[in-house]
Amino acid sequence: MPISPGGMSVFFRSIEWSHSFCRSRLFSSQPSKSSWFWNRRALLLLAAGSGGLMVLADAALSQELNPAEGSDKDLNKKKVLVLGTGWAGTSFLKNLDCSKYNVQVVSPRNYFAFTPLLPSVTCGTVEARSISEPIRKIVKRKEEDVSFWEAECSEIDSKQKKIFCCSNIDNSKDKENFALDYDYLIIAVGAKSNTFNTPGVDKYCHFLKEVEDAQRIRGSIVDCFERGSLPHLSNEERERILHFVVVGGGPTGIEFAAELHDFIHDDLLKLYPSLKEFVKITVVQSGDHILNMFDQRISDFAENKFQRDGIEIKTGCRVVEVTDKYINMKEKQSGATLSISYGMIVWSTGIGTRPVISQFMKQIGQTDRRVLATDEWLRVKGCDDVYALGDCATIEQRKIMEDISYIFKIADKDNSGTLTVKEFKDVIEDIRMRYPQIDLYLEREHMKNAAKLLEGTAENAHGQTIQLNIEQFKTAISRVDSQMKALPATAQVAAQQGTYLARCFNRMDISAAEPEGPLRFTGTGRHRFRPFLYKHLGQFAPLGGEQTAAQLPGDWVSIGHSSQWLWYSVYASKQVSWRTRVLVVFDWTKRVIFGRDSSGM
Ligand code: FAD
Ligand code: MG
Repeated sequence: MPISPGGMSVFFRSIEWSHSFCRSRLFSSQPSKSSWFWNRRALLLLAAGSGGLMVLADAALSQELNPAEGSDKDLNKKKVLVLGTGWAGTSFLKNLDCSKYNVQVVSPRNYFAFTPLLPSVTCGTVEARSISEPIRKIVKRKEEDVSFWEAECSEIDSKQKKIFCCSNIDNSKDKENFALDYDYLIIAVGAKSNTFNTPGVDKYCHFLKEVEDAQRIRGSIVDCFERGSLPHLSNEERERILHFVVVGGGPTGIEFAAELHDFIHDDLLKLYPSLKEFVKITVVQSGDHILNMFDQRISDFAENKFQRDGIEIKTGCRVVEVTDKYINMKEKQSGATLSISYGMIVWSTGIGTRPVISQFMKQIGQTDRRVLATDEWLRVKGCDDVYALGDCATIEQRKIMEDISYIFKIADKDNSGTLTVKEFKDVIEDIRMRYPQIDLYLEREHMKNAAKLLEGTAENAHGQTIQLNIEQFKTAISRVDSQMKALPATAQVAAQQGTYLARCFNRMDISAAEPEGPLRFTGTGRHRFRPFLYKHLGQFAPLGGEQTAAQLPGDWVSIGHSSQWLWYSVYASKQVSWRTRVLVVFDWTKRVIFGRDSSGM
């Protein structure tokens, strides 16, 4: 049966539907006063749902390390060892059926931190403890036994299936070293801040990556105000001390700058009114615009809002050195050097590789890379039974053009050298599952191009079915690989990968008999699992003054107070426990009633 040009479009209609649903339900342009009220209530109602998390452990090792734990471990179960208690590791543990494995968790941090609220912690809008949940508490919610070791993995030996750890609980004492073995290793250690080896950054700048960083920044801001109000200072020195510089115009840097502006103007200047004329915030960005990963409307709005708020934005400037009092920059266009004095700098220019990952990459031959390369099933390339997810890894999506001849051969069931519409239809679902870039291509190029892709198999003007030979097939598919893009380093990706991998592990025993993945175009049979498929649910950029920009799938943009309410409800709903959810909402309420706390503790 011939396919009409729009024959493959059911899938796209579903995407369109979900976009229009979001548009109509959540972002109906300017709401009236009454709908604004109901929207608020609806959004608050959205703030629900969460879960627990959990881990198991290897009996022998558990007992050796901690005799109190793991006495009833089933030694026949495979050992799953999870590195990291961030977004990816926690999401994996929460969704894993821990009754099927002996699970151990190793992380230098014995809690999960809700990183999207870290900028709020820097200014005391939210307290650090409100966004952190002890990992032992999360894993306790599961009924199975799980072991947690507060330690850092210092080396991975994938040949011996062993990791080496170093516990440094009390910094003043000697480090405790120990080794653990595994059947499956889940690497979810995240990333560290990237300084691009810029001199002075490590010594003089604050980073905003961990809860401790946010707490240090909070103390430093208040210190700057106290120092700036000392009686003996010249005005020039006061200006320097009260100059806050944010390096990096991405979402984290911009959110911090906006929070800082609100903290200074809503709270601090009420207590230090004489310092008003000396305070300044500057954002330094190497690109031409801030928030350049967002829609241009958001980037423009943010730039205009910052200008109105008196936050200076220096675009096209690269920091080349930081000294105790100055930041030296180079203007990209003119090549001129520029030096500005500062009182405090927050460095937020992206992420770099953790040493344990760099070392592991060398060991498995993944050199000259920033993150671990995995396949579409999150398996680390070049070793067995090792998985990596979140910020420390990237999926290397296989190009469809590499396999095009195999695909054609499998699709051409009658070996006629051409594909009929039916032959094409029989394999298209498997092709889409194996090479998700096809869907991205069709989504981005919209429906008319979806039709074009199938032009060769459509009916001609006389109602006759056109058949494709391999060259025509190649031409139809040739642009698809251009849509391949690395996934962003976000909590959203990390959490979805954790959930996906846990599901694969939960189905490990049944998947051999009942494979659910696509056809193996370069082999026989089917893949055991579907490849990981990321579903982008949207992105927020809080801009201060109770205004947030939201960009939802389908490039739907909403900016203003209504998105701020959406931001509140989404972030409350995504909390890992009811305790943190209640505390966060309580902190927001407390801030409205009493303002932020400006004591320098
Ligand atoms: P992480 O969450 O960083 O977790 C890594 C874990 O590994 C930690 O528990 C760490 O202690 C542990 N670890 C580190 N080294 C070792 C080792 N050697 N051995 C064992 N364990 C180790 N994303 C969004 O989607 N939306 C946002 O609004 C957002 N806002 C952000 C705001 C800030 C300030 C920051 C810093 C990030 C933000 N992100 C946001 C990004 C998001 O936090 C990361 O993408 C996400 O945390 C990645 O998850 P992960 O599990 O890979 O790493
Ligand atoms: Mg054929």
